[in-house]
Amino acid sequence: MILVCCSCGERIVVGEIARKVLRFRHPTEFEEARGLHGDEVPLADWYLCESCGDVADSLAELGFCYHLGGESLKDQIAEYRKDEARWKDQTHNAGVTGLAPGKGEK
Ligand SMILES: [Zn+2]
Repeated sequence: MILVCCSCGERIVVGEIARKVLRFRHPTEFEEARGLHGDEVPLADWYLCESCGDVADSLAELGFCYHLGGESLKDQIAEYRKDEARWKDQTHNAGVTGLAPGKGEK
């Protein structure tokens, strides 16, 4: 069986340390009405390679919202840094025009 990391897409060799990502979804109305599942419907497990697993742990500790299955975690961090830089630029520009937070007219 070959596992693939759901973040970076690297192959995970069985026996290597990999993180299992337990996934759940909410039941649909159909399922709920018929009591087919509880509050959480289990989905197929995903796996993270060791390095992405470590990244995911750090992100969770920081309270950073990340998602799996689309962009890799590294891309998400890169994007976040870009946004952060842009935000800092804006703050700087706002400061130049006299509208820095807390310094505006009241
Ligand atoms: Zn990975």
